Amino acid sequence: MPLVSVVVPCFNEQDVLPLFYVSILKVMQEIGPRAEFEVLFVDDGSSDGTLEIVQELCEKDSRMRYISFSRNFGKEAAMYAGLEHARGDYVALMDADLQDPPALLAEMYACLEKGEYDCVATRRVTRKGEPPVRSFCARCFYKLINRLSDTEIVDGARDYRLMTRQMVDAILRLKETNRFSKGIFSWVGFRTKWLEYENAERAAGQTKWSFWKLFKYSLNGIVAFSTLPLAFASLMGLLFCALSFLLIIWIIVKTIVWGDPVAEYPSTLCVIFFIGGIQLFCVGILGQYLAKTYVETKKRPIYIVKKAKLD
Ligand code: UDP
Ligand code: MG
Repeated sequence: MPLVSVVVPCFNEQDVLPLFYVSILKVMQEIGPRAEFEVLFVDDGSSDGTLEIVQELCEKDSRMRYISFSRNFGKEAAMYAGLEHARGDYVALMDADLQDPPALLAEMYACLEKGEYDCVATRRVTRKGEPPVRSFCARCFYKLINRLSDTEIVDGARDYRLMTRQMVDAILRLKETNRFSKGIFSWVGFRTKWLEYENAERAAGQTKWSFWKLFKYSLNGIVAFSTLPLAFASLMGLLFCALSFLLIIWIIVKTIVWGDPVAEYPSTLCVIFFIGGIQLFCVGILGQYLAKTYVETKKRPIYIVKKAKLD
């Protein structure tokens, strides 16, 4: 029988894990006759009782396994570690907070079983229960990144998905430290079926994403999947060359024809400030890419394991 691995990144999820276990048991029973299961919890350096609860579950149920990080490495690292250690013929990524309804897994598995698709992914069609400012920024981000990048980043796509072994292996070949999974999933290709669902609120506990964290993550995504911002500097340079050329001609003509000498100190200042600003902005963009390159060249591991039960 095929083995289905469910990878669950957990960061301070002690309140929700017992509820999660109950829901995942139900799904395992439902798909039970057609597949075997393993659940791989990745404790991302939690500071609450998450690890203890996970260890208890692992003792109670032999289908549960876990990895625990030496500190908080972020959800991207947790997902990578999970994929790396999953043994299944099919691997699912699922949040612990029940915002990724475990019940959908049965439907996802049914799609892959037939062999028509390599991946079943989910996207939420509403952002109900989210602050309006955040939804607005998210929408702007997806518009921007899709303009800038050749890789399609689907608006509202969740990380919740079920993939074949072949696709998981492809994802694992991308060893970048600077991971932006929404892009990576799309970059590796394969036939993906999209399931849509209404946004569900977190069952317990709190979201780990502040607005600032999300902002940094989105910048990360743009740098990871587009080099177009780098061309911005050249474009601006060209534009201003043309502009200044026209300006010079205008000033020469003005002086010769009307004998009007240039006495425009304030306007010169404005222009200097303006161009200076644009130059700094462009250097900043360069710096972003340089910083990411710097981090990548160090080739540091994506995560460090402190404890694990993987048999
Ligand atoms: N998570 C993680 N490491 C982190 C932050 C989050 O492993 O540094 C996990 C978290 O435990 C949860 C999932 O990633 O299972 C999604 O996090 P959260 O629910 O806070 O994000 P949201 O659903 O609000 O986008
Ligand atoms: Mg959540």
